[in-house]
Amino acid sequence: MIAAPPSIAPDPIFHLIGLYKADTRADKADLGVGAYRSNEGKPWILPCVKAASERIQADPSYNHEYLAISGLDEYTKSASKVIFGQDSALLKSNRVSSFQTVSGTGANHLGAAFLSKFNSSKTIWVSDPTWGNHFKVFETANLQIKVYPYWDPATRGLNWEALKDTLQNQTSPGDIILLHACAHNPTGVDPTHQQWEELSEIISAKQLYPFFDAAYQGFASGDLDHDAFAIRYFAERHAEFLVCQSFAKNFGLYGERTGALHIVSKTSVVARAVDTQLSALQRAEISSPPAYGAKIVAAILADPELYQQWRNDLITMSARIKEMRTTLKSHLESLKTPGTWDHLVDQIGMFAYTGLTPGQCQRLVNEFSIYLSSNGRVSMAGFNDSNVKSIAKAIDTVVR
Ligand code: PMP
Repeated sequence: MIAAPPSIAPDPIFHLIGLYKADTRADKADLGVGAYRSNEGKPWILPCVKAASERIQADPSYNHEYLAISGLDEYTKSASKVIFGQDSALLKSNRVSSFQTVSGTGANHLGAAFLSKFNSSKTIWVSDPTWGNHFKVFETANLQIKVYPYWDPATRGLNWEALKDTLQNQTSPGDIILLHACAHNPTGVDPTHQQWEELSEIISAKQLYPFFDAAYQGFASGDLDHDAFAIRYFAERHAEFLVCQSFAKNFGLYGERTGALHIVSKTSVVARAVDTQLSALQRAEISSPPAYGAKIVAAILADPELYQQWRNDLITMSARIKEMRTTLKSHLESLKTPGTWDHLVDQIGMFAYTGLTPGQCQRLVNEFSIYLSSNGRVSMAGFNDSNVKSIAKAIDTVVR
């Protein structure tokens, strides 16, 4: 028998989505959910995904059989090339174990479960702030979480000196360090290339284990290679690290739960042993991963025309988001809204970290039906030509 478990607070983002759906006011806006919306405010099926999906359904050999424990082979192979590069020396060295996972969350979970069992340190350092679910996932895997400084409210940018100071003076050899590969969630602030190079040096000197979370490759800048800079830089310099890869945003395959975990080992012999351990963990958790999203991604990555279409689709999404950043900033500036708004265009990716206070966010929800996280994070994909001006006016009202 179990004692009646106490009720706990609902997940803040999913709770916000529920409140938005229940709101009957006509001009409501959802800036909470991290999902792309078209300029009409609708979910968007990427043309490359639509084409691949039609092709798969039309194939007479299509079926619903289980995938292997590690997932669809063509998928994990081509996914690893997307992240490490087509001609990656690391991939040729056979030091990577690639497993298909239940999207990026599942990759974080499987990676954490693996490290919790086999890494010398059970401490993971995460940025302050980070994606809220990192705490839940890492706690569930029995890792001990510590935070390193990241966001500087004064500059609305990276707290670089404090970040370095913490890594240099407070970490222990073997500790894990979580790094957002690009388009940091929630701040939209990434280290520069030079700062990544310095980070790599500190991480080597302090013998930390890099744990990359890559949920926005290509979605951030529109360029897959640009957004993979940090991972590829580390790939040439670090013997051991891992990458969690999500195709939720960059393929718009949110609900299909399409991701991968790539664990880099010191040698190919160690990597094959890691494969066996990942198989055991995956079998116990989910047996085998979901098939449909992986089939779609594999079909796109195997076909040069569909691959090119994907690159175009990434530009469509990232360009619309960048345009909304500029438009929002210019509306706020023409309203003479107190404060500076350059950070809206300096930040990158799906989210903008506005600097709005929890009280101001609450007023936006209550008075204007504009739904956003209480930390002031907004999804830029929730903006469109029809609502950006009225949202700017509402922000202006609550800021004054
Ligand atoms: N990591 C980060 C930083 C994210 O922002 C997200 C999506 N919100 C994920 C991982 C994983 O998302 P999913 O499980 O939908 O791939």
